[in-house]
Formats: sequence, structure tokens, C-alpha cells
Amino acid sequence: MHDHRKLGRELDLFDTDPLIGAGLPYWLPDGAAVRHALEEYIRTAERRAGYRHVYSPVLGKRELYEISGHWSHYSEDMYPPMDLGGEQVVLRPSLCPHHAVIYRSRSHSYRELPLRMAELGGMYRSELSGVLGGLTRVRAIQLNDAHIFCAPDQVADEARSALEMIRRAYAALGITPARYRLSLPGPGGKYVAAPEMWRRSTALLTEVLDSSGLPYEAAEGEAAFYGPKIDVQFTDAAGRESTLSTVQIDFHQPDRFNLHYIGADGAKHRPVMIHRSVIGSVERAVAHLVEQHGGAFPAWLAPTQLAVLPISEAELANAEALARRCGELGLRAEIAGPERGTLGARVREARLVPYQAVIGAKEAADDHVALRLRDGRRLDPQQADALLARIGALVEAHSTALWDAPPAQGQLLWAQR
Ligand SMILES: [Zn+2]
Repeated sequence: MHDHRKLGRELDLFDTDPLIGAGLPYWLPDGAAVRHALEEYIRTAERRAGYRHVYSPVLGKRELYEISGHWSHYSEDMYPPMDLGGEQVVLRPSLCPHHAVIYRSRSHSYRELPLRMAELGGMYRSELSGVLGGLTRVRAIQLNDAHIFCAPDQVADEARSALEMIRRAYAALGITPARYRLSLPGPGGKYVAAPEMWRRSTALLTEVLDSSGLPYEAAEGEAAFYGPKIDVQFTDAAGRESTLSTVQIDFHQPDRFNLHYIGADGAKHRPVMIHRSVIGSVERAVAHLVEQHGGAFPAWLAPTQLAVLPISEAELANAEALARRCGELGLRAEIAGPERGTLGARVREARLVPYQAVIGAKEAADDHVALRLRDGRRLDPQQADALLARIGALVEAHSTALWDAPPAQGQLLWAQR
């Protein structure tokens, strides 16, 4: 596996500057392109699964986190409050309290449940400077978060669907988790004291995991302060394990925020809150993608999807026309002309780009392109529009295959070297 910090800098994906601060990386255009594709994938998948998106501010009054329990259970990971006209405001350590308040702001009937509220939003963690590094330990986090407000008898199905969504995302991203973990409370931790609540939510999550057929391990001391969770663990290049995706069942915050819905009986009932993240933070997800793929991202995520390589100056106009058509189709193309060296040198330079379109005099004459794939395959010259349509369809489908079937392991070695 590759070190994402080293590769991220070499590939111009992201960097840090002491003047901005440790643990506060910025994204360069190529990194931003990867992140944007990832965020778009998540938002689309969520919309298709019946989630509605909201925006909420990254700041909130201290009182909000006192009610949620973050202030008493989590304050050592939070930034100190800022005094503002007699009030104390803090950078949020999670999105949950905001979403609970948004839910509470309107009345809800049982017919609206499950109500799935999603946001890709900022949150902050006051990590110590000694542990900061790359995109995995940062102080400002963009979280793919969602909260499902549902009736108690809908919890298992919703948690199961969330887990299924997570597994579909891994297939599109071409990543493999190290293990699934049932995270339980442990001795000495700061947890909400409500034994019956813990028993119920642990039983529900166990049922979901057992019916999923996935192997998993239970681990004590890894629960959230308000409830147990399913965590999906990944290993980084240094062998350290971290959580990417999570599904959590929470009876605590609906109580704290006094949430309710009107049932079929006309009476008020308490909803359950499921916290779920498909890819975790975009920082950690991109770090893992860089390490697992060594910069050779699936085509739909690649910063440059098509390298256009005119053999000589004479084909430059054709190359520009092809790049323009890519832009119109929403594909990210870049021209590497003869001023950047021999064709062989330019092919090597573009070795992480999934598609390389070579245009010589013969191809230019009848609007054809000789396509090379990142895995070393070379295709016969084809009509340019048909070829772009094929690439567009593979990108649209979030395929990890470059052309048809996934390439054999031997063909991948060259790309990952
Ligand atoms: Zn949450």
C-alpha cells in the first residue's frame, strides 16, 4: 500500500501549509476533482435511497451540545467556546444536534417516517498536533452524515438498508474493508447510563449484522457515548486501523431533544434516530482511496479521465476538438502535446490516467482515436464519438472496470508500480 501523504503531494491532490495550520489540509484542483466526484456519487446515491439533504451551520451555541450530551461526554475533543455578545458559541463536534433540531422544527406524522435527513457538512475536532497527518487525522472534517428518524419497528430495516448502501459504495470505489465491527461500550468509558436502551439497540444491531451474512467481531470500549454502532474498519499504509463507515442506533438524543411524531392513534410517540455514514469523512475516504489504488483511481473518480495525445503539432486541432467534446460530456480531459516529449514519454507520464487517446495523421483524417487503457491494453482505432460515449457510460455507471470485464491481476501491476 502507498502512503497517501507522500502520494497526495506528488500527485498534487492536497497539501498543508504551516501558515494555515497543522491538520488543516487544502485541496488542489486534482484533489478537488476527486472529492467532487465522490461527493456527487454520495448525494446521488442518497437521493435515490430516499434521503433529503439539508444544510446546517458549523457553529452552535454551547447549550445545544449540553442538551445533546456532547458537552459532558465529548468536550475534550471539542474546541474551546468563543464568547460572542454574552453567549458562548462552539465549532460543532458532530452534525447530530443540528439535525435533531431541524427535525423538531416541524411536526411529523407517522406517515412521513422513516424520515431520512442527509448532509455533507463540516465538523471540528481539536486533535493534538502530535497525531496530525495527511488527510487521516485532521482538525476540520467534512462528514458524509445522515440521520434517519423512524418508528421503533422500522429500525432494523433502515439499518440494514444503510449497510447495503455502504457495501454498494465499496464496490463502486473498489475498496475492501479490513473488518466489520460491532462496537460496544467498555469499562471506564463515558457513556449515557440507560441499561435497557443499550440492551435494545445492541440486540437490533446484532440482528442486522447476523442477517447480513457478513463476518464481524464485537469490540468493547468502541461505542458512541449515546449508543452501540456497526463500524466498518479499514487499514492504512502504516497498518493502523480506522473507521470509515458507521451505522448507529440512538434512543438517547430523541429523548434529550424531546422529538416526537404523531402516530396512527393521534398520540405523540418518540422516534428512534439512526446515525449513518456511508464513506465517513471525505478526508479519510480520499486518503484510503489514494492508498488502496496508488493514485490509479476508478475512471469515474480520476482527476483526469482522458489524456489526449496528438502525435505531432499537425493533430493539435483534432486534440483540442476532442478535449472540448469531453468537456461537453462532463468528462475530464487533458491534452499532452508533442512539446511535452516523445509519445512514449507522454504515455508514461499519463500512466495513472485511465484512458489515453492517441491521435496520429491517420486517425485525424477520419475523426478516429487509437485508445490505450491504463492497464496496458491497446484498442483498434475507433470513431471518436462512439468511444467517448462508451467511456461516458462506464463513468456514469461508476464502474471499476476500464473497458469491459475487470482486468486480470497481472495487467494491473503495471499501473500500480
Ligand atoms: Zn449523528
